[in-house]
Amino acid sequence: MSLLPLVGSDTQVPLLDGTSVTYANLDVAASAPALQSVADRVAEVLPWYASVRRGAGYLSQVSTALYEESRARIGAHVGARADDVTVITRNTTDAVNLLAGCVPGRVLVLDIEHHANLLPWRRVEAGVTTLAGRHTLAATINALAEELAHETYALVAVTGASNVTGEVPPVAEIATLAHAHDARVFVDGAQLLAHRHFSLAATGADYVAFSGHKLYAPYGAGALVGRRDWLDVGTPYLAGGGAVSTASVVGPAEPVETAPPEVELVETPEPIETTWQPAPARHEGGSPNVLGAVALAEACTALGDLTTAELDRHEAFLRERLVVGLSELDGIRLLRLWPDSEEPLGVVTFTVDGVEPAKVAAYLSAEHGLGVRDGRFCAQPLLKRLGLHDGAVRASIGIGTSVTDVDRLLAGVRALLAGEV
Ligand code: PLP
Repeated sequence: MSLLPLVGSDTQVPLLDGTSVTYANLDVAASAPALQSVADRVAEVLPWYASVRRGAGYLSQVSTALYEESRARIGAHVGARADDVTVITRNTTDAVNLLAGCVPGRVLVLDIEHHANLLPWRRVEAGVTTLAGRHTLAATINALAEELAHETYALVAVTGASNVTGEVPPVAEIATLAHAHDARVFVDGAQLLAHRHFSLAATGADYVAFSGHKLYAPYGAGALVGRRDWLDVGTPYLAGGGAVSTASVVGPAEPVETAPPEVELVETPEPIETTWQPAPARHEGGSPNVLGAVALAEACTALGDLTTAELDRHEAFLRERLVVGLSELDGIRLLRLWPDSEEPLGVVTFTVDGVEPAKVAAYLSAEHGLGVRDGRFCAQPLLKRLGLHDGAVRASIGIGTSVTDVDRLLAGVRALLAGEV
């Protein structure tokens, strides 16, 4: 059963024995296939493609309206407050790098994070503290509280859901804690938003970032949504047309009248003087990705139309089936960070005793037509702390995953353990 129709859900892939089989995509945490409604909408607006914010022609007006309407829907999907701003980015990584250029003080982050929510913070002038997660969620929250009491932070950056284990930190609690110490909270929503409804207003979080390609829209568009003040004055993320308000060459008072016949370059240390637009334009230099924004907005609307119960029931049922099935097998170790955290979302990560994760994934692909992820999941500090130097295997569940997909994975792992590799 699929909650919503997806593009390519019956794709046939070749197996080693020369036969072919329907691809079972259990790697939706990396990138999720597009919703059919998203593909339809993109095809529908493609003929209306024209210059955004730069032309008076009718198509330009339509394109501009589509872009701004998409922005509004994307912000609404994550519970943007009336004075929040939505910047259209390329993806989550882009959004975090953008925010890193606007944070006016030090950043606090846990070592459980995806590289996208670790490395960009090193650009922050005031620096970043990376705190090791503890063996329980309660102890991790205590460690955050102690650190916030010990040093002044402008921002606490936390994932909405771990891409390694699917565990879901309590964002609202962390926001309350951070605010008590005058720090803001950024939520990396890259994983969370494909699985759960999320609201800035309801959780009290200050910023959220996410990627279209994890949200059943194609590549190329993501968003950063949150408080306007830092974004209005922060370093323009992409300098260029659209982001700049005024740009003038600094030179002699009357260069035209006094210039010799041959053109002379005016050389000064700061040849161009600029003033910048406020957000969001400030950070969206260049011609914007209208189709990406339209696709992302359409995916937001489609997911937003699903009830929390629909999203949770489907995923929790399949995850439970997979976890129980794997737990019954000797030689499989399931990864969890915090035994006291709530049920993770649809990400199940495991190792197979004596078989490298890369071999497990290659076997499942070549012999069973199953797509899983292996490696260190762009979370090397965490995998290193857990002693998983070769990484692990990750199966992820989304709205298109079926019972058959899960059962095929269990059968594949069983065959592997029976020595078929
Ligand atoms: N954060 C998390 C938790 C992720 O899982 C990912 C991607 O895997 C990212 C951030 C980065 O997303 P993107 O590659 O779309 O920028």
